[in-house]
Amino acid sequence: MAETPILQTSLPQTLDPQKVFRQKLQVSGQLSVASMTRLCESLLDEEGTVSANLYFEVDMERRLRIRGKASAEVSVTCQRCLQPMKLQLEDMIDLVLVSTDAQSKLLPASLDPWFCGEDELLSPADIIEEQLILAMPIVTKHVRCIDVNSAQDETIKEHIQTESARQNPFAVLSGLKSRSD
Ligand SMILES: [Zn+2]
Repeated sequence: MAETPILQTSLPQTLDPQKVFRQKLQVSGQLSVASMTRLCESLLDEEGTVSANLYFEVDMERRLRIRGKASAEVSVTCQRCLQPMKLQLEDMIDLVLVSTDAQSKLLPASLDPWFCGEDELLSPADIIEEQLILAMPIVTKHVRCIDVNSAQDETIKEHIQTESARQNPFAVLSGLKSRSD
């Protein structure tokens, strides 16, 4: 019944999807990069902290939306000069909770589904890790390897934007769907 958003300044381990959208729950907090084992597979080390916020709401189309933002500075290896480099990962999260494939196929191509079975709980950490993995550039390399120190944040960010192609299987699915229509 709660109409006003409920704010929580820590990230709970699990959330009840039956409640969070009705409550318009907002959660924010930090997670260690080390806790994200799948993300760490792409990183040079496990140093760093992920800052994230998530909020849950029912949109105009009655879809269960999970929105928010996740960011972290991580260490990776430059794939050209093989030296370590810092990478600023950032992702705007905008997902729709679905429990079946059929539901996800109804979504417009611009929206990505987040699967959660009818009786399952939501894990904020899983959502955030998955989104950061999607935000990882395919190729990580310095803009200019010769003078590593001159690679300012700005140029690195620009580089990420051009190289980052999100590998999203659902985008492929929705492409197939619209072609068969
Ligand atoms: Zn390099």
